[in-house]
Amino acid sequence: MFAKPAFIYFDIDDTLLDHMHAQEQALYIIYQQRPALQKVPFKAFNTLYKSINSGLWRDYSLGYISKSELKHRRFTDTFLELNIMSEDPVETGTAYINAYRTEWKWVEGAREVYEEICRHYPTGLITNGFAETQKKKIIDFGLDQLSGPVIISEEVGHLKPSPEIFSFAEKQAGVSGAEILYVGDNFMSDIVGGSEAGWQTAWFTQTIEASKAERAQLVFSSFLTLKQALIENSSGTSSP
Ligand SMILES: [Mg+2]
Repeated sequence: MFAKPAFIYFDIDDTLLDHMHAQEQALYIIYQQRPALQKVPFKAFNTLYKSINSGLWRDYSLGYISKSELKHRRFTDTFLELNIMSEDPVETGTAYINAYRTEWKWVEGAREVYEEICRHYPTGLITNGFAETQKKKIIDFGLDQLSGPVIISEEVGHLKPSPEIFSFAEKQAGVSGAEILYVGDNFMSDIVGGSEAGWQTAWFTQTIEASKAERAQLVFSSFLTLKQALIENSSGTSSP
């Protein structure tokens, strides 16, 4: 269990908002609209795209490729692998982003608990996504209405788990790292990144691995558990 934090940062994708759902729905929409992609079952297309995309994100986070390379190569490489020549990967990439933006939704139970925590603690957001996409999400869901600093990796020039983005966020919070709790779903970006920065971490995950769970002060699979730990079990912060 953690010491009561003075400041709480939240990750956005797959912590507050369901990125995986939106990604899969958007892929399904472009798959259905393009008969050439249907030479393989959707499941195979989905798996291949995700594997290529995550490799490209790794390269982007290490500075090996640019944002625009990431955006077009995730479809160029997928089409090459499937030997699809008739589709334009750039046009498909744009269609994907447009579809992705219509499919965002809250992670189950996250909204109420996020709003409640924001009423009890100073809070902020740290996200690794593209600035224009993440800003649209933040505005559409009103995430910035209740939170203070909004830290977007593309604007800072470093992606989580780089120590630079955590130290930038720490300065914005105005408290020491040990007093910050970071709530996130990604073990490497959020939990390793946060704990290496000297922060406390709360790991939102449905699959608990004991050796990894040791890195986090709290592991939770339901937002009610986070609420209990931060509000209901915390003295002096309960509502009248
Ligand atoms: Mg995330």
